[in-house]
Amino acid sequence: MKINSLAVIGAGIAGMVVARTLADAGVDVTVFDKSRGTGGRLASTRVGTLTADMGAPWIVPEKTEMGRWLKSFSEVTDCWTPARADFALAGSTDEQTGLVATPRSSALTRQLAAGCRLVPETLVTVVWPDQEGVMLRDSGSEPLGHFDRVVVATPAPQASPLLDAVPRFRQRADEAGTEPAWVYVVELDNRPERLQSMDWLEGDHPLFRRVVRDSSKPGRTGEVWVLEARSEWSHEYIHLTPETVGAEMQAAFEVLAGEPLTVVSSRVHRWLYAHAVPCGCDELSLWDPGTGIGACGDWLHTGGMEGSWQSGLDLARKLLASGH
Ligand SMILES: Cc1cc2nc3c(=O)[nH]c(=O)nc-3n(C[C@H](O)[C@H](O)[C@H](O)COP(=O)(O)OP(=O)(O)OC[C@H]3O[C@@H](n4cnc5c(N)ncnc54)[C@H](O)[C@@H]3O)c2cc1C
Repeated sequence: MKINSLAVIGAGIAGMVVARTLADAGVDVTVFDKSRGTGGRLASTRVGTLTADMGAPWIVPEKTEMGRWLKSFSEVTDCWTPARADFALAGSTDEQTGLVATPRSSALTRQLAAGCRLVPETLVTVVWPDQEGVMLRDSGSEPLGHFDRVVVATPAPQASPLLDAVPRFRQRADEAGTEPAWVYVVELDNRPERLQSMDWLEGDHPLFRRVVRDSSKPGRTGEVWVLEARSEWSHEYIHLTPETVGAEMQAAFEVLAGEPLTVVSSRVHRWLYAHAVPCGCDELSLWDPGTGIGACGDWLHTGGMEGSWQSGLDLARKLLASGH
């Protein structure tokens, strides 16, 4: 059956790759997301008058399949080679270049949304096939329309209830795991003296997974740092208030910097499903021709950003093949 309409639930990288590929093939694509904007775990946030990337610090290392694909979006992507060090502040000689979206992470998914109808601030709660196609409903049980095909591109715990109509897919989603992450975004009045020549700290630390100077990325200004807590720490302190977490992370940052820091503005975010622990299946994406429902995301196959992208691309190809 020719595909006339497609609904994508989730405007992260996986969903937007499907959306853009199908829109380019002439399909009428509608993208629903419960958030105000696009990006999902590639989202950006306001901090004071600036913006910062709250999710993955860069999209992907340059020399990967996804890196090569991203270079075709050169108007919103740029290369970045951060000065890296461990938490003892020993510089790394292992130079790595990654791709970042400019002027902020969410610019990429925004660009991918061109040609699609984007419906933000809409939590989809029901995905159900009937005689007119696949029907969607929002959190108030209001109908959102019927579509020829529907793609669920959300983290596994949010995908599970949306995959009720295909029990095999729901089971896959239930088998995947997730790890949380607290993230502290802070704008300082000045760059700390000890961190003058460092953009990216990672390694062994009881609290931090990574500390990144967001302002060092191409197209950014100011003095903004993004601090990501380790999964274990985030898990242990998942029920603390953002204020308490911010104070803990600030104190640990001051120890690293070796001086008290003056905060201009800050924001704390709790990612409940930051990192997927994939379900272990060997399918890159899930597609059920009987119902017209598919699923993709980092919880299938390898996980991570590139896993999401590959999953989305794989599903887009299956959908295109199903329409001819
Ligand atoms: C702090 C942090 C650091 C990371 N670091 C790395 C890294 O270094 N390397 C790496 O490879 N990966 C990293 N990741 C993971 C990477 O960001 C994700 O794997 C990837 O972005 C997932 O993309 P996705 O499209 O599958 O899902 P998401 O980006 O999560 O997109 C899903 C979207 O679905 C929406 N949604 C969910 N439920 C509904 C619903 N019912 N109705 C409507 N909309 C809904 C959400 O709002 C969201 O926008 C990191 C993630 C975080 C948070």
